[in-house]
Amino acid sequence: MMKKHDVIIIGGGPGGSTLAALLAKQNVNVAVFEREDFPRFHIGESLLPSSMPIFKESGFYETLNSGKYIRKYGARFADCTSHDEVYFGFEDGFNAEIPSAFEVERKEFDKDILDNARKQGATVYQPVRVKDVEFLDTHCVVTTNKGDQYEAKFVIDSTGRDAMLGKNNKVRKIHPDLNNVAVFAHYFGVKRNEGKHEGDILIGMLPEKAWSWVIPFKGDITSVGVVCSTKIFNAGTDLEEYLNTMLAKSPRVKEKMAGAERTTEITVISNYSHVSETYTGKRWMLIGDAAVFLDPMFSSGVHMACTSAKLALPIILQCLKENATFDDSGLGQKYKEDIDRGVNRFHSLINLFYKGDFVKDMKKTLTLDNVRKGFTSAVAGDMWNEDNYILQRKVL
Ligand SMILES: Cc1cc2nc3c(=O)[nH]c(=O)nc-3n(C[C@H](O)[C@H](O)[C@H](O)COP(=O)(O)OP(=O)(O)OC[C@H]3O[C@@H](n4cnc5c(N)ncnc54)[C@H](O)[C@@H]3O)c2cc1C
Repeated sequence: MMKKHDVIIIGGGPGGSTLAALLAKQNVNVAVFEREDFPRFHIGESLLPSSMPIFKESGFYETLNSGKYIRKYGARFADCTSHDEVYFGFEDGFNAEIPSAFEVERKEFDKDILDNARKQGATVYQPVRVKDVEFLDTHCVVTTNKGDQYEAKFVIDSTGRDAMLGKNNKVRKIHPDLNNVAVFAHYFGVKRNEGKHEGDILIGMLPEKAWSWVIPFKGDITSVGVVCSTKIFNAGTDLEEYLNTMLAKSPRVKEKMAGAERTTEITVISNYSHVSETYTGKRWMLIGDAAVFLDPMFSSGVHMACTSAKLALPIILQCLKENATFDDSGLGQKYKEDIDRGVNRFHSLINLFYKGDFVKDMKKTLTLDNVRKGFTSAVAGDMWNEDNYILQRKVL
């Protein structure tokens, strides 16, 4: 006989695991299908303070705060031609309750966050790949790579960039203007800030709107990457030389990298930015990267995945209770509007970065107290907070 769940989530990354934990805490019979055995590598290593209240609600914060991950108190953006930098210290934002986040190796973080979903009562099938979903009037039938079938009232696509249901339903599109390529690896021996600022993320500006990231993990390993437009990407075959040459173009990053040794293979990912025309059908919903991903510049991916899980929760609960569908109830449209409010603000912030001279522009802009606090909160991911001065003034 077919096994039944109220909700099936495809994908056990941060979005799927968060939604599973939140639903399980509401006594919903929820199952997650994750195709990979964890631990495994994944990109997306710098978290934002605004995710912390969601992790508290999902029961995950205790693990995150147990000492295995390094704290991130701020984000530094360093100029391309000088040692100038602009610093966003999260304690200085509008939301003083969330003054920090963490830098995480995703091989540990993803295992921990999926374990939390189990702990909260979700059923996890792993490693099991969902091969097919059939949508019927009253329910959905999920078929796995093992040939097993499962029934649920709703199926949530949290498959990340694979966007399984988004692609099947032809609602997913490559972003019209954010077409970038990222080249990255982990390194040993990258120089660090002292004390409290050890876990700050450093963004080093490079010529032609390219940029680099330096994300220190607990211990000796640091994630380092370079992002540039696909139009100017010319790495050839020697990715090592490309990385070294690009990283040396930022005075601050060059200093940090002196004597560092690469510990992992170099990975290249391109054209990762995309949007979806809609995030729901009658009995399906997209969350996290499966719905939308803009750009890694402001480390917003995991936060958007967890925020979409939080916004999805009341909608799924209401549809289960009233035996309604996402579309007929109008709640699917509300879900899209709720998500896009924050997504559009992140997009404006990203545009400020790519269309101007971010370090110089910000140094001028941040002199006013309310504006500095507002931008600091925005960089901390607080894009759904209507109390933020710059959001009220529609600066973003
Ligand atoms: C270059 C780059 C740098 C980035 N840096 C950052 C950063 O610093 N901070 C940040 O917050 N974000 C960053 N991101 C974004 C971040 O990687 C994602 O936004 C985040 O991982 C999205 O979480 P998710 O749960 O939606 O999807 P994912 O984390 O991708 O999880 C999806 C899961 O679904 C599983 N899956 C897929 N298909 C199936 C299937 N058919 N059956 C079962 N399981 C399936 C996969 O195995 C995977 O575990 C970056 C992205 C890029 C491209």
